[in-house]
Amino acid sequence: MAQTFDVIVIGAGPAGYIAAIRAAQLGMKSACVESWKTPQGEGALGGTCLNVGCIPSKALLESSENYERVTRKFESHGISVSGAKMDVARMMARKEAIVAKMTKGIEYLFKKNGIAWLRGHGTLIGKSANGWQIEVKGDGPAETAEAKAVIIATGSKARHLPGIPVDNETICDNVGALAFKEVPKRLGVIGAGVIGLELGSVWRRLGAQVTMLEALPVFLGAADESVSKAAWKIFTGRQQLDIRLGAQIGKVDAGKKGVTVEFEQDGKGQRLECDKLVVAVGRVPNTDGLGAENVGLKIDARGFIEVDAHCRSNLHNIFAIGDVVRGPMLAHKGEEEGVMVAELIAGQKAHVNLDTIPWVIYTSPEIAWVGRTEQQLKEEGTPYRAGQFPFTINGRALGQDETEGFVKMLAHAKTDEILGVHIINTHASELIAEAVVAMEFRACSEDIARIVHAHPSLSEVLHEAALAVDNRALNM
Ligand code: FAD
Ligand code: AMP
Repeated sequence: MAQTFDVIVIGAGPAGYIAAIRAAQLGMKSACVESWKTPQGEGALGGTCLNVGCIPSKALLESSENYERVTRKFESHGISVSGAKMDVARMMARKEAIVAKMTKGIEYLFKKNGIAWLRGHGTLIGKSANGWQIEVKGDGPAETAEAKAVIIATGSKARHLPGIPVDNETICDNVGALAFKEVPKRLGVIGAGVIGLELGSVWRRLGAQVTMLEALPVFLGAADESVSKAAWKIFTGRQQLDIRLGAQIGKVDAGKKGVTVEFEQDGKGQRLECDKLVVAVGRVPNTDGLGAENVGLKIDARGFIEVDAHCRSNLHNIFAIGDVVRGPMLAHKGEEEGVMVAELIAGQKAHVNLDTIPWVIYTSPEIAWVGRTEQQLKEEGTPYRAGQFPFTINGRALGQDETEGFVKMLAHAKTDEILGVHIINTHASELIAEAVVAMEFRACSEDIARIVHAHPSLSEVLHEAALAVDNRALNM
């Protein structure tokens, strides 16, 4: 007999596990199908984000940043350290402990909320009187489960390039690049996007000579141009990341001694020799073996499940959320879609505003933004005013010796509504939250300008940027 549920979620990444929890909170009998296995062969919840994405990358970014602080940054504070060493195995063990704590935490939340974890790969196979049927194939014989509503949260996987076979030893995607056993002397990275920059930064800080090959002629095209220009200067200047724009990748040869990448830049053939190569050219939605064809679920030309603004697919009571649907491939975007869909299934009204999703790149300094960039506003012909304020003259930033970067606020020229906020600073990921709240409440730059910000704090720079929109920054 098939097990029956009100809701079955396929995939326990941040989108899926949050959807399952919210559905259970709303009184629905919920289950979540998840097939992830750790390298030790144990089942694990949490998806890409917890196992090989957001969480382990941030653990390594912190460890490597601490190493850089000790070896290069503390001197200005009068702290000199000699003989600082990096124990990569210990750094990795710490990362793995964090991952285990977080993934086990989701197991606990599932138990607490009475959510059944159906261990194995889920495939949509058809419909019965009880609803949609899903076959779950784990280590034992396949079983069938049924539910009135299905939420697909199967996420994404690294995009690979033809002719560049990823073995996660010499040529790696995010999985291998988060688990190097030692610091490579020469690291090549294909793709200077968010993931490439974060992974490249980790290994550069620990001593690797990093070369990044980016196909596009512009750097960080999705960010505000003034931010990407400032970031370019810092990353390629002081940090010595060798980033080659407009690089067309040719033949890649991997052998025991490392990798040779042939590429063309400005019409000239070049070669990159490196010990390890990371391929970070974006991610593709994951619908492998999902059984979309068995039930007639629509998938678009790029492989994403087609959904409307409320994450409804073309099939009644089948929803899809997270990386497997349109919109930014970010954990928090998927989580909010998970909450929305569970509430919609429960008959509530819910929505997610894709216009106020914050973006963060966890480099040093960090880059964060929400809303429109200046170039987008220009293209759209939206009249705007811009206010910008640097961290160089902020007391807290000076105390921290982290004065690089600025906050830029863009507001509508007539209504003064905030249209975008762009931050480059060591703590940009935390500072952006104020801007997100302001934009969700459709605040004006004047609202932020009139709000008291603690002194001395980095948030004063956001305050000054808001004042600068009206040309009345006080400390400049
Ligand atoms: P996923 O996390 O990919 O989870 C999908 C799950 O579904 C997986 O566990 C998979 O095993 C399972 N699954 C798939 N198909 C089936 C099936 N048929 N049956 C059973 N189970 C199935 N985002 C951020 O917001 N902040 C960050 O700092 C950040 N850093 C990142 C760093 C790296 C290195 C990477 C690779 C990504 C990062 N991301 C970050 C992106 C983030 O990881 C994704 O946006 C997020 O994981 C998407 O969540 P999801 O639930 O949609 O899918
Ligand atoms: P992101 O989507 O932020 O993870 O970034 C992926 C990056 O990889 C983007 O900057 C892309 O332009 C870049 N990219 C995609 N395909 C290639 C390619 N074939 N060679 C080099 N860079 C690429």
